[in-house]
Amino acid sequence: MYDLRNVVTDEYQGQFSVKLNRTTTIEQLDEEMEVGDDEVEIEGALVDIQSGSGLIKRCPDEDCTRVLQNGRCSEHGEVEGEFDLRIKAVIDDGMDVHEVIFDREATEAVTGISLEEAQEMAMDALDTSVVADEMHEKVLGRYYRVVGPTFGRYVLVDEFERITEPTDPEAVLIKARSI
Ligand SMILES: [Zn+2]
Repeated sequence: MYDLRNVVTDEYQGQFSVKLNRTTTIEQLDEEMEVGDDEVEIEGALVDIQSGSGLIKRCPDEDCTRVLQNGRCSEHGEVEGEFDLRIKAVIDDGMDVHEVIFDREATEAVTGISLEEAQEMAMDALDTSVVADEMHEKVLGRYYRVVGPTFGRYVLVDEFERITEPTDPEAVLIKARSI
């Protein structure tokens, strides 16, 4: 499902049409995509943490759970959100970059910051962005092996493991040659 903004709607002989123009923005609603059956495994360096990571608020409607933008759900308007943790990260395996999502459980495990601690940190600083900043310091540049199903262009992290060094056959080969 896509969220279309700034489209031109038209009616002609009872038929509605939607036209896209240069100002049209198309936002993929990741909350509505289907989770794939295939599990993938990625091993590499965590090179970036995307916006929308850290301490977030979700719509309390249990069929919705969309991430709120400035306290608003795109479906239900202004709502009393519920706190959650997630990390949208980019892992570089040396060949390609992959976008991965750590849910609350995985985020707590990978950062060592619980949801309660994150809320306290945000309350002390009067700013939720301190949580994402702290998470940057904990995980950025480290190597991980993650396993999980795909979700649109994302991989949902089911299992992860911190690795000290990527098992790159090329690197092993170079090492072997140099002996
Ligand atoms: Zn909602």
